[in-house]
Amino acid sequence: MKNLTTKKQFSLRTAVMLPFITVLLLTLSVVFYTQNKSYEKLVDDVSQKILTSYTQNTHADLNIFLKAPYVAVQNMVDQIQRYQMYQPNNTKNIQHYLRHSLLEVYTDLQQVDVLSFGGEQKEYIGFRRESNKGISLMLQDKRTGNDLVIYRGNQISEDIRSIIPNYDPRQRPWYSPVANTLDPAWSQIYTNVDERKEITISTMHPVFYGNDFIGVFAADVKLDSFNAFLYQETEHTKGSIYLIDNKQRLIAHSNPGSVISLGSPRSPNGTRQLAIESPDIAIQKSAEYIQEKKLVNNQAATVFCFSYKGERYFSQITPYRDNHGLDWYIVISITESDLLGHLQQEQRKGLLFGILLAFTGLLIGIYTITQVTKPIFTTANAARNIASGNWNNNVEAKGSIYETTMLMNAFNDMTHKLQSSFEAMRQQIIFDPLTQVLSRQGLIEHSRTMLSKQKECEQGLLLIGIDNFRDINDSLGILEGDQLLQRITERLQASFHTSNIAIARVGGDEFGLFFSNLDNIEQLQQHALDVHACFMTPFHISANPTLVSISIGLVYDDLSCDAMTLWLRNASIALSQAKKNNLDTSLYTPEMAVASQHKANITAELASAIENNEMLPFYQPIIDIKTGEIIGAEALIRWINPRRGLVSPLDFIPLAEDNGMIIPIGTQILTQACLDTVDRINKGLWPKDFHMHVNLSVCQLTQDNFLDELENILQKTEIPAQNLTLEITESRLVNHDKSTTNTMQKIRDLGIQIAIDDFGTGYSSLAYIHKLPFDVLKVDRAFIKDLTAENVESSIAAAVYNMTKGFNITLVAEGIETQEQAELLAKLNYNHAQGFLYSRPLPLTEWPTE
Ligand code: C2E
Ligand code: CA
Ligand code: CA
Repeated sequence: MKNLTTKKQFSLRTAVMLPFITVLLLTLSVVFYTQNKSYEKLVDDVSQKILTSYTQNTHADLNIFLKAPYVAVQNMVDQIQRYQMYQPNNTKNIQHYLRHSLLEVYTDLQQVDVLSFGGEQKEYIGFRRESNKGISLMLQDKRTGNDLVIYRGNQISEDIRSIIPNYDPRQRPWYSPVANTLDPAWSQIYTNVDERKEITISTMHPVFYGNDFIGVFAADVKLDSFNAFLYQETEHTKGSIYLIDNKQRLIAHSNPGSVISLGSPRSPNGTRQLAIESPDIAIQKSAEYIQEKKLVNNQAATVFCFSYKGERYFSQITPYRDNHGLDWYIVISITESDLLGHLQQEQRKGLLFGILLAFTGLLIGIYTITQVTKPIFTTANAARNIASGNWNNNVEAKGSIYETTMLMNAFNDMTHKLQSSFEAMRQQIIFDPLTQVLSRQGLIEHSRTMLSKQKECEQGLLLIGIDNFRDINDSLGILEGDQLLQRITERLQASFHTSNIAIARVGGDEFGLFFSNLDNIEQLQQHALDVHACFMTPFHISANPTLVSISIGLVYDDLSCDAMTLWLRNASIALSQAKKNNLDTSLYTPEMAVASQHKANITAELASAIENNEMLPFYQPIIDIKTGEIIGAEALIRWINPRRGLVSPLDFIPLAEDNGMIIPIGTQILTQACLDTVDRINKGLWPKDFHMHVNLSVCQLTQDNFLDELENILQKTEIPAQNLTLEITESRLVNHDKSTTNTMQKIRDLGIQIAIDDFGTGYSSLAYIHKLPFDVLKVDRAFIKDLTAENVESSIAAAVYNMTKGFNITLVAEGIETQEQAELLAKLNYNHAQGFLYSRPLPLTEWPTE
């Protein structure tokens, strides 16, 4: 978990898709770039070639268009000069020759509109082609009265089309320049004076007879007809081709319309349009470009390219010049789409298709990677669920990818194995392996479930403790002890098997019975009796009938949800109480908890009590029963606690024995008692044979180095061994442990006497007593307190005397409170007596002087 957060994390999908997409984008851009680049190169190449080719074609056409008339006129002039066809005042020959030439010889030169001759005498002969394939005669000589007459036919006739008076050919643009230079040349482009007003250029040749310049021969070339040429040229290319002069006025263009202006500020009506005034966008915009970049007057062809409204135009301007005055320019302008057709669109389509394909690939990629990541994700989630205790996480291995399916299957296997081992582990925690009933933890958990099913009723718990199970275990053997526990379980199960009762083994020798549905406490008490009934008959373990006694702690209340742990503790307190008080059952009361808390507090305070010297011995005199003299004393410990006051040894000695503190406490009291005795004897307050009795806990006795300790104390306190008697409680010597009796003997060997304390209350039979090494027998107060003159003969006190008669021991009667008891015991030949009758235990300072 921690690792997940410390380093930047990418999802698997990102990790796989990112490089994929990057490569895809890179590839697309490279393709796009190279495609674009090759396209541009293609455009360059193609435009260059096409433009050049068109220019060349146009150039060639124009050559044919213009050179043929030029050459024809030159030939005709040669003829005229050679045969001197023209004579002033005699125009018939030349008239005939011109008509013949136009009708019979130069029929191919359709661009030649007019053949004309003007003489220095102001005479004029011309033929003009008509649209009906015929020709019209235009004549001015003496026959026409020196007016220019235009006939409808090619002869002089009455059929006159029009008459132009005062026509002077010498003033015409096809005449005057040659009259000046006397060299053949092209005329300016001009508009015809006739009714057709056509754009015309004339090839002009001077005519000489010898050295005499006699006139000008000219052929008019209709430039309008060149439009048709150009139009043809562009029919397949869709571009625009046009011719301009050096003033950038249009001479011809590939458009259907005329180049004549209808009137504009820069081009009055009847004059030629400026190219920039053309309605054709390709012409207009290329012309603007030419104007802006001053491409006119360049010597060589110039290729250029410009954009207009998102469309690219490829153009070329090429000069068209000759030695006879032509200074024109051929301009070609063509749009990119016209140039390459749908190539670019096709290319875009291709690219789009590529992108579409890539996108599809991407989608498939995403789908595939999802197929991979989804199962991983599901598995991870399932694992997380399992970590939080939810086992129902079978991940469905339904993907179609082998590895992930394998992963999920393996995960499921692992989950099942984990689950079963987890459940086995739970089983071990919840159930007691030996008896298969609930364990302590199992009871705590199960009680919750039982409780959730109950309403409006009370609950109860019986804690069954087997008395002295350790001893039983020791005598039977461990295996048999286990068998006994199993038998006990079986009996309990047989008696309590309804669903609102839970049986549990909550400790080594403790069983719990939980009742979830009780109406009153009597029911619980009845159950306790039933439990006792289960133990009435012996258990047969390896053929030995064993009777087991039990004590039961009861808890009855409304069990709140999580209180079972507390209930078990309370039941344990009640059970201890039962055991302590030798009761069959004991019902838990809150006071018990207080008492038990009190015990716990005392235990906690014992340690500081020793350090603070809060323990000191009180002394109770021991009396010679016959003489009534004090022959000794018993040291009885007292704890004077600053807070609690005087604490009885009954309240803390058992606790000190439990936690081992009895060792230092015992040493302290023994030492003090010895010191006090030596001091008293030395002071002569006590006789030299004074018997100091000090109580010895079995814990002290069984200590390893006890004898050394004892000798040490004797040495230190300088008490003579014969002044000391150590009292050992009979009931605690139950096992007659060999080493304990050995120690007792060794103590006696030191010269110290041993007294058996509280004799009669213990477990051992009277028959065993002779096996113990001792000197004094102290008969317990319980056998003294009810003594009367009537029952004295049959009393235990009497029996003890009779039984020990033969032994060389001293008999001490404890707890004598009345004179009568004292007398009866005296009669029974008891040696010594102790009791409130003589004195209560007192601090040394209050020791009676008499
Ligand atoms: P114990 O050894 O049997 O001591 C005699 C108990 O009987 C004393 O109680 C004493 O005060 C009480 N007693 C004496 N005469 C009479 C009488 O006439 N009537 C009644 N009702 N009681 C009488 P105490 O001092 O409370 O001591 C209780 C027990 O604590 C002792 O029983 C002994 O087992 C243990 N104990 C006391 N001091 C020590 C000690 O220093 N070490 C050890 N290990 N145990 C000690
Ligand atoms: Ca005693
Ligand atoms: Ca006693």
